[in-house]
Amino acid sequence: MLEVSHLTKKFGKVTANSDISFLLPDGSITILLGPNGAGKSTAIKSIIGFLKYEGSILVNHIPNKSLEAKRLIGYVPEFPALYPNLTVSEHLEFIARAYKLKDYKEYAKELLTRFELIDKKTKFGDELSKGMQQKLSICCALLPRPQVLLFDEPMVGLDPHAIKELKLLFEELKAKGASLLISTHMIDSVDTLWDETLIMKAGQVIAHVRKDELKQTGQTLEDIFFEKTEKELS
Ligand code: ADP
Ligand code: MG
Repeated sequence: MLEVSHLTKKFGKVTANSDISFLLPDGSITILLGPNGAGKSTAIKSIIGFLKYEGSILVNHIPNKSLEAKRLIGYVPEFPALYPNLTVSEHLEFIARAYKLKDYKEYAKELLTRFELIDKKTKFGDELSKGMQQKLSICCALLPRPQVLLFDEPMVGLDPHAIKELKLLFEELKAKGASLLISTHMIDSVDTLWDETLIMKAGQVIAHVRKDELKQTGQTLEDIFFEKTEKELS
């Protein structure tokens, strides 16, 4: 479970996140949807503990910057940050050692197979294409089986097979009780995966859209997105 309360983050005069509050229950998928510059990456970087901010962020009731909370969070950054001198296999081994994982090899093999990286095991980080780097970055984040997963624009640069596999994984992780937060600027990239969508604009969450509420009103996410964003403009 992740609880974000009154998150505010300023970069000088720019308020990148303005009093944002939301809760990710166990076994749920939440989308952060908003145009470029809305503040999605800033919120994610605050949750992972990379930034200083005002407000409170708790992971299973523990402050996010504690070591205990950090072990519970997995993060897939928008731009993969790999080690040029480690091979694909060594990246996973490195994560396994850092997290003191036991019996990780089977899961590592499963992840590499699903993302079609198994025949790239001996390639170095800087020998991989952008899409392959993104896929390895996803495998690294998933290996410790985190309870809270943050994906920043995860579909960008992935091929259709990887997108399909990633969406399957999202649903499997949710079924196992994980809390997922996925940012995107593309409405149609998330189709029906989610339980709740937070629409962001200019640093604010301007709408919390719940899937079950949409079903009742017969509206689409797109309808609400344009209704809310246009209302904000007028
Ligand atoms: P998104 O991920 O939704 O595209 P960001 O969170 O990256 O948006 O950015 C939100 C706002 O914060 C933008 O106006 C951006 O220019 C600003 N911003 C983000 N990171 C920094 C930074 N390190 N320094 C200064 N301004 C930043
Ligand atoms: Mg971003």
